[in-house]
Amino acid sequence: MQTNFSLAALADPAMQASEKILRTCVHCGFCTATCPTYLELGDELDSPRGRIYLIKKMFESGEAATKEVVTHVDRCLSCLSCMTTCPSGVHYMHLVDHARAHIEATYRRPWHQKLMRGLLANLLPYPNRFRLAIFASVLARPLKPIVEKLPVLGKQLGAMLALAPKSPPTRSAMEGPATFPAKGARKGRVALLSGCAQPVLAPEINEATIRVLTRLGIEVVLPKNEGCCGALVHHMGHEKTSHAQAAALIDAWMAEIDGAGLDAIIITASGCGTTIKDYGFMFRDDPAYAARAAKVSGLAKDITEYLATLALQPARETGLTIAYHSACSMQHGQKITDAPKSVLKALGFKLKDVPEGHICCGSAGTYNMLQPEISGRLRKRKTGNIARLKPDAVATGNLGCISQIGLGFEERGEATPVVHTIQLVDWALGGEKPAKLTG
Ligand code: SF4
Ligand code: SF4
Repeated sequence: MQTNFSLAALADPAMQASEKILRTCVHCGFCTATCPTYLELGDELDSPRGRIYLIKKMFESGEAATKEVVTHVDRCLSCLSCMTTCPSGVHYMHLVDHARAHIEATYRRPWHQKLMRGLLANLLPYPNRFRLAIFASVLARPLKPIVEKLPVLGKQLGAMLALAPKSPPTRSAMEGPATFPAKGARKGRVALLSGCAQPVLAPEINEATIRVLTRLGIEVVLPKNEGCCGALVHHMGHEKTSHAQAAALIDAWMAEIDGAGLDAIIITASGCGTTIKDYGFMFRDDPAYAARAAKVSGLAKDITEYLATLALQPARETGLTIAYHSACSMQHGQKITDAPKSVLKALGFKLKDVPEGHICCGSAGTYNMLQPEISGRLRKRKTGNIARLKPDAVATGNLGCISQIGLGFEERGEATPVVHTIQLVDWALGGEKPAKLTG
């Protein structure tokens, strides 16, 4: 695609990177066929190609973002399905991340959008605040039918309450900072990303991960001063905050790398994994962090990627048929497609692939709360596709998808359990059956 940037604009390294991306797009439109928002809304401006045109126009003009650009970029899930489909290798993720940062810097959002986005950005990445918010949501849940009728923010707040747990989750005894020694001879040492929302909503995921790894002879460390990876606010265009959160996490991991050493940094939320593996790019122009960020990105591994390199011997027969839902951040963001399935198969699970498996479930970080209508349509579509398989359970590697698909089954009046892949691995290797499978 031909571009028309001024020399002054191209003096900015970020603009240079985006211009390079724009030139790789040949506007063939192949990406439209696999874009969830184009499939649902049928508007070219809600397709990757349409958004690329809008972003190009905005950057070339050097002007503030318009309402039109904001509407269509906000509707993008950042699912990255378009990147898997694109034959020209257009790096849509870096382009839309830059566009989002430009929008936040130049566009005045209406007060209700600012309020909702501010709430999410200031609660979710901070476990203690988030725990309080969950407690409040549990109390407010019965008011959902009234809340969702509010003329402003009703739908968004209603979506928030629908996703909240029915009772406050209990605190894990395995919270960090801590070191969990390997059982038997030590074969490796890894850091596990605790995460921000996940240990509050589903502490059983990190607990299962620690049990699995230590059982396999791997020492697990939950480092000091660990916080959010920055992914959540990064997708909202809050560049400064996301970089500060990422830098703090890099420091925490580097202290371990330079100390007792790490063989890998294990991530159990694929949404975080995509961002952490991109730290090298995020800090490319930062002399203090570029090398350290690249080191961290190089060590980052999804738990199933790491397990696929180890010998796994099932301790029991589970006999379950599992529908494996590959999160977008897993299959499109990190290009991990075989590892989770090969791990589950090695442990005796029968697997079924979900039809339209490349299409997002509509969770997408905070998308299900910011864009509840499109998210709801995608949830219905995804859950319908999974339900047709009649699985015993659904497995996936991202908490957002677990909550979203779980809600989808609840809306269908079905009780199909949705668990994290590592919980099934833990059970098959001798751990307890996941609570959701015992009900
Ligand atoms: S498939 Fe790739 S090259 Fe073709 S329009 Fe989409 S982004 Fe551009
Ligand atoms: S990231 Fe997903 S929603 Fe956004 S343009 Fe690409 S395919 Fe469409």
